[in-house]
Amino acid sequence: MSGKIYLIGAGPGDPGLLTLKGAEVLAACQVVVYDYLANPEFLELAPPEAERIYVGKKGGDHTKTQDQINQLLVDLAAQGKIVARLKGGDPFVFGRGGEEASALAARGHAFEVVPGVTSAIAAPAYAGIPVTDRRATTEVAFVTGHEDPTKPGSTINWQALSQIGTVVFLMGVKNLPHICDSLMKAGRDPATPAAAVRWGTTPQQETVSGTLADLAGKVRSAGLKAPAITIVGQVAALRQELAWFEKLPLFGKSVLVTRARKQASRLSEGLKALGARVIEVPTITFRPPDDPEPLNTAIEILDDFHWVIFTSPNGVEAFFEALLKSGRDARALSGCKLAAIGPATAAGLKAHGLVADMTARTFQAEGLIEALQAQGLTGQRVLIPRAAEAREVLPETIAQWGNLVQVVPAYRTVSPEGSPELLAEALNQGLDVITFTASSTVSNLMAMLDKEGQAELARLSQSGQLTVAAIGPITGDTARGYGLEVAVQPESFTIEALVSALTAHFAS
Ligand code: SAH
Repeated sequence: MSGKIYLIGAGPGDPGLLTLKGAEVLAACQVVVYDYLANPEFLELAPPEAERIYVGKKGGDHTKTQDQINQLLVDLAAQGKIVARLKGGDPFVFGRGGEEASALAARGHAFEVVPGVTSAIAAPAYAGIPVTDRRATTEVAFVTGHEDPTKPGSTINWQALSQIGTVVFLMGVKNLPHICDSLMKAGRDPATPAAAVRWGTTPQQETVSGTLADLAGKVRSAGLKAPAITIVGQVAALRQELAWFEKLPLFGKSVLVTRARKQASRLSEGLKALGARVIEVPTITFRPPDDPEPLNTAIEILDDFHWVIFTSPNGVEAFFEALLKSGRDARALSGCKLAAIGPATAAGLKAHGLVADMTARTFQAEGLIEALQAQGLTGQRVLIPRAAEAREVLPETIAQWGNLVQVVPAYRTVSPEGSPELLAEALNQGLDVITFTASSTVSNLMAMLDKEGQAELARLSQSGQLTVAAIGPITGDTARGYGLEVAVQPESFTIEALVSALTAHFAS
């Protein structure tokens, strides 16, 4: 029995630069073996049950030696496993992918290579530097800067390199003074444009530009560290005109997105497209109720109800999931009148082909009570499928009017595992923006903090160090209730409006 090992290039950091084939292989693998540089987001592309093995490699700190990694891959292949071996950039560009492939080939194990976007090209590109350009150079060399050129036995031919139009160094930050010296000693003009790009293609990208003569000093004073790419050659000067990534409106901003993961993507994608670093901290997730029986029973006898009242979009989704599971569909509601607590809930019904007979104008139980009272609701059988934990005011008031009210739990909300830790880490690293897309995201986020944490957040927002963005007035009021200064609140309550309002905020 022999499995297959896929040596996959994960690209330089921007998750959008993983190839389609890389994503396909990840989605079908049984084991992911990954390095330090690979973007952690990629691990989510693998099936949840796939084993994830970290083999490290950060600077000198090797979690596993190359021999151990080779052996691990050989063992996994022998066990018949389908393995995604995820490596930063391209696996065959200074990635030791060749050695891993040789270890497999020597034992007759099957492997494939899925090339990746190498940082050697992508980091310069995101800094506005084409590695070749007809106006400047006809050739490019990729060189490891890892070798200490002062040590005897350096295999780098500086004489030859000094003749090449563009020279790109990887792993060279520590040795940068030696690298620049060696090139100049070999005859390269000290005035040659040069640049170093750290964390290229990511929102943390940092670029230092200069000349062969002064780059090393500038990099040292800027405190630029690994991982970085150094580009030497006339092309480095094109950055002045072509830098684009660092000019995106939200570039360099760290933005916290508080929605549940499933709902967060539109906001996150919009922010990322404008250069922001997005940190998703889901504040709430939904689970089926502990006891599904009451809902299932109510669904069996739907014809008995005159009214069904929905109090949240999640309630609508949970109801229809159970309805479809029971083998019925929206027609089961044909004899019932439908009420929705607000426009979002009404939109949830519409997505299932149903128009609510009544929608409250406010988003609260009181608004719905008022609207139902206006209908003179009495002597009716009323079903309310809703969250397991919810306020009693709605069912109690309706019952007082002489209606028979049945409340069934359709779902329960739980605090997502790991979110408090994610939040603490994000705050530790420094946040520029927190976005709130519903009142519940405010209260759930605040509930993850202790009193001091809440006060600190309020202080940061008041001093302008932290921008709080709320999707609309109700969410904004909830945030203000916690002492947060809301700096961004768009006119219309949509994700798109929130993103443009943030952009305008930082442009001014
Ligand atoms: N196989 C990888 C290179 C691995 S060697 C590739 O094709 O990109 C590790 C070196 O890659 C780092 O020391 C640094 O020089 C470079 N590197 C990787 N990712 C980078 C990034 N996002 N920005 C700048 N340099 C990066």
